Amino acid sequence: MKCEPTHTPAEIDIPKLREKYRLEREKRFRAEGNQQYVRPKKAGAGKAEPFSDPYKPVVPRASLKEDIDVAVLGGGFTGILASVQLRKAGVSSFRNIEQAGDFGGVWYWNRYPGIQCDNESYCYMPLLEETGFIPTKRFADGVEIQGHCVRIAKQFGLYDNALFHTQVTALRWDESIQRWRVSTDRGDEIRARFVIMAGGPLNRPKLPGIPGLQDFKGKVFHSARWDYGYTGGSWENPTLDKLKDKRVAVVGTGATAIQIVPFLGKYAKEVFVLQRTPPSVDARPNPPTDQAWAKTLQPGWQKQRQENFHRGAMEGFHPGEQDLICDFWTEINRNVAAKLAEQGWPAITPETFMAMREDEDYHVMERFRRRIDEIVDDKATAEALKPWFRFHCKRPLSSDTYYPTFNQPNVHLIDVSDTKGVERLTENGFVHDGKEYPIDLLICASGFEVTSDLDQRWGIDEISGRNGTSLYDYWNDGYKTLHGVVSRGFPNQFFTGYIQGGLYATTVEQFNRQGHHIAWIIAESLKRGISAVEPTQEAQDEWVATMAPSTGFSQYMQSECPPSYLNNESGKFRYYLGEFYLAGFTAFEQLLQDWRSKGDMAGLDVKS
Ligand code: NDP
Repeated sequence: MKCEPTHTPAEIDIPKLREKYRLEREKRFRAEGNQQYVRPKKAGAGKAEPFSDPYKPVVPRASLKEDIDVAVLGGGFTGILASVQLRKAGVSSFRNIEQAGDFGGVWYWNRYPGIQCDNESYCYMPLLEETGFIPTKRFADGVEIQGHCVRIAKQFGLYDNALFHTQVTALRWDESIQRWRVSTDRGDEIRARFVIMAGGPLNRPKLPGIPGLQDFKGKVFHSARWDYGYTGGSWENPTLDKLKDKRVAVVGTGATAIQIVPFLGKYAKEVFVLQRTPPSVDARPNPPTDQAWAKTLQPGWQKQRQENFHRGAMEGFHPGEQDLICDFWTEINRNVAAKLAEQGWPAITPETFMAMREDEDYHVMERFRRRIDEIVDDKATAEALKPWFRFHCKRPLSSDTYYPTFNQPNVHLIDVSDTKGVERLTENGFVHDGKEYPIDLLICASGFEVTSDLDQRWGIDEISGRNGTSLYDYWNDGYKTLHGVVSRGFPNQFFTGYIQGGLYATTVEQFNRQGHHIAWIIAESLKRGISAVEPTQEAQDEWVATMAPSTGFSQYMQSECPPSYLNNESGKFRYYLGEFYLAGFTAFEQLLQDWRSKGDMAGLDVKS
């Protein structure tokens, strides 16, 4: 079926909306920025993960003392795909070192009821063609995605060497042996020729720093450590029957909370949704996979689909191109493409394209707001649920069950925006507008440390490169890399994630391509007898100079969006969105491909 442009409200007053967005944004500023969040302390644990694993017991094991080629720090999709790429490049001496009890990363830790991928699984879930797996529905459940992590890990032999429930505590470059000394909290001393940092961006839960949080005597947990023992049900079958006589409050209305709330509404006696910033939530048709369609897929289909998604969500469709995804992620560009088609696809500048996107953004967001009026019965509640920001300011969401939940008599929306967050907790519950609401359970769907200090986020006490230089000090005023993967003074250390590279609409595929590039350098180094590789000062300086953190997308994130992890809570930009190759992912990929094809490792200092 052909994907058509959507009908968005035509009569809107953009200057007025812009002013409304500005006022809503101002209202949410908090001077403390990231400091408003807290993390529990664990005595003697250094910077390591303070939240324990509720899902799998830690099994004692002997410490390792060994030499390997590559230590891959992480067992989520980033680490899995880096390892797969190592295998494909012919490197076999490597280990994944992972703090969780299995592969999966966020899909291991996040087992809350309703968890699903909110990008289309046919793009999001990697290596579908190589594993022969087709997701059972469009937005796959978390348990299916974690199962896919296991499937890939088995197929590519990653379990043989993986170390689970293991936190790296120190990485020290030893010049005399040209290796990294990798220490862990299990007493391991691993000497790795190369290390790949594959920790992922959403690995550290953060708690809201609500005054009185320590005083509350009821049950509290973070959404990424769901306690089914308390709520009833299980990851596979989230029937939360133990909540039938419980009063539950959930902090947050982000991607996580909107998936949880319908389940709480269904099972709990009473539910309080403590909302600071309303999210944008579109419809979410989630049909089972059409098996007849699956049979028609030709080799190379997933890459083509991901590229179509990338153009739909980010770079813009080509003239005449079909939108294969056809959902809210691609709506703005689909509608822009329809307008360009009407004009016969004139040649336009990037600025004109961005201006067309901006205009369409206001219309699409208005469609989202009017949708709420159609679903939510109570007018005041509907009004309070409306998002007032541009499409990408907060993660765009979809759910068919979130808004209808507010029509249930046991579900209450509590708008805590006036107090810039939940006002206070007492022994018994939360306080709002001078009234105490007793609760039994507080669920913190309050997100992750995406822009906190790297040492805290990675949980590694020390990373010292040549001459003992600390990476944390070296990067304190900003990343310094070549291509986002290597940094001077830190030989044979490779980085992944949102660091000075290209930004791709399918996150997991972005990590996969980073893994591919890194594996290429490692395999070549091993083949050529290179013992240490790092960028030259000139190449690194040149690359850093091409990054322009205050332009385009990141500029509007900083200057127009309400605070969130995407813009470091409106603080000074650091560590997440912003430092990207401005010509876009396609151009970035071409650049790396050309670089590899030449084979001369230009810009790298290599030591034999
Ligand atoms: P977010 O950081 O997106 O949301 C945290 C929520 O907690 C926000 O609504 C925030 O409000 C609220 N909050 C924080 N502190 C307070 C406070 N003191 N009082 C009241 N409210 C507070 O975290 P999520 O876990 O929802 O999502 C993080 C990311 O994880 C997503 O953006 C997405 O990338 C990924 N994810 C993906 C999923 C998927 O694919 N299905 C599912 C879940 C997550 P405010 O907005 O005002 O700051």
